[in-house]
Amino acid sequence: MVNPHHESLFIGGRWVTPASAEKITVLGSSTEDVLGSVPAGTEKDIDAAVDAARAAFDDPHGWAAWQPARRADALRRLADALERRKEAVTRTVSAQNGMTITLSEQVEGVLPTTLLRYYADLIRDDTGEDIRDGMLGAPVHVRREPLGVVAAIVPWNAPQLLSATKYAPGLAAGCTFVLKPSPETVLDAVLFAEAVEEADLPPGVINIVPAGREVGAYLVSHPDVDKVAFTGSTAAGRQIAATCGSLLRPVTLELGGKSAAVILDDVDLGTAIAEPFFHATLLANGQACFASTRVLAPRSRYDEVVDAVSSLVGGLTVGDPLDPGTQIGPMAGARQRDRVEGYIEKGKAEGARLVVGGTRPASEKGFYVTPTVFADVDNSQTIAREEIFGPVLSVIAYTDEDDAVRIANDSEYGLGGSVWTDNDERGMRVARRIHTGTIGLNHYTVDPAAPFGGVKASGLGREFGPEALRNYQQIKSIYR
Ligand code: NAD
Repeated sequence: MVNPHHESLFIGGRWVTPASAEKITVLGSSTEDVLGSVPAGTEKDIDAAVDAARAAFDDPHGWAAWQPARRADALRRLADALERRKEAVTRTVSAQNGMTITLSEQVEGVLPTTLLRYYADLIRDDTGEDIRDGMLGAPVHVRREPLGVVAAIVPWNAPQLLSATKYAPGLAAGCTFVLKPSPETVLDAVLFAEAVEEADLPPGVINIVPAGREVGAYLVSHPDVDKVAFTGSTAAGRQIAATCGSLLRPVTLELGGKSAAVILDDVDLGTAIAEPFFHATLLANGQACFASTRVLAPRSRYDEVVDAVSSLVGGLTVGDPLDPGTQIGPMAGARQRDRVEGYIEKGKAEGARLVVGGTRPASEKGFYVTPTVFADVDNSQTIAREEIFGPVLSVIAYTDEDDAVRIANDSEYGLGGSVWTDNDERGMRVARRIHTGTIGLNHYTVDPAAPFGGVKASGLGREFGPEALRNYQQIKSIYR
């Protein structure tokens, strides 16, 4: 990294002096060394960023008023500029949050540019207006207008992707943005700002203010914000929803999860308990919102499932996230590691049987937790109910298909999930009965063409797919 200590903020299309001299310093998740720093945004910086986004949005000849094809070209320029920084972005994310480099290359390197090009193509020829036959003998014009200034608040686990799930459809729709990255992952946001600058987007269309939760809460309640797009914990989501509720401000919330991997009794464990199962349950070191961390096993084959899952998890390569051979990297920081270790202790204290892991690996540095499997877990225990956000699986026994569905649905959350079977029709039947926003059959891979999001405490609204454009549009009817 050329200049890991940054002194300015990207607001209004320029690098400006922040309101405060305070800094956010990021430690390497595997080294605990200082990786770099950025200015810590304050309420004054948020004011400046919202003003810039407001001015860009309100400009009668500006971004929101551009023909969609012109915006589509700008989105493609941004995709190209990001692609030129792909290696730096993916390495920076991995070094900060511990995501393995092989995953980061796809999730943080490729997907944001894919989304930008996808939404560019979706809106290029969109007139933004449908004309309907009215019921009163005259036509009605139904318009999709951009919502306005968006406050986008993202977590640290996939910072580039989770920013792109907001700005790609939002920019396509004609909105302008204030993006607030999480303090754990602010260095990749600088690379993103450089890409925005290079892509020559009009000043103020994207503004970036790295900051913590208090400043985030200030942004959510700012009078000149028209919409909030949030990804993060359910606890923060509830607070943001309360603020937006009182302001009657549109909000989309992508929150936590505690999804189930339902292993049906016909499954060939040799096929199921392999690469796709690892991806569905422990992707991103277990720091993935949709991870199927409750493994539901048929009582008739319980020991077999526990053995297979434990040997898979026990055999994973834990190490440096920047090494392409690593399967499990460190937690994003000491706070996350302590949190995961706290849950492991709770699991033991509540009587679950620790089968593998549960310790720190021998390495001297880095926020590592050994991938862990608990057996004999009851769905009422804390480790089965609360989101751990680390590499910890709980194997829970069920009696029959109805019982499996009942346990899968017995959760505050409903975000992801997976069904493992050799019988496709049976798998589809079970998948349809599970209360969740997304679910996979014999794998779990989020497909950006389809809407993604949660039910219950996992959130409100959907990202991805054409549906995401609607998050950033206001519908207006003109009766002619
Ligand atoms: P977090 O809620 O602590 O923080 C997320 C972001 O919100 C950060 O930028 C933080 O500074 C900000 N923030 C926190 N409280 C706020 C408030 N009251 N007002 C405004 N901003 C606030 O979450 P985290 O620990 O950074 O991320 C992990 C969580 O994110 C997990 O619960 C995970 O499941 C969830 N997540 C969900 C999805 C999804 O798509 N559903 C994707 C990734 C992560």
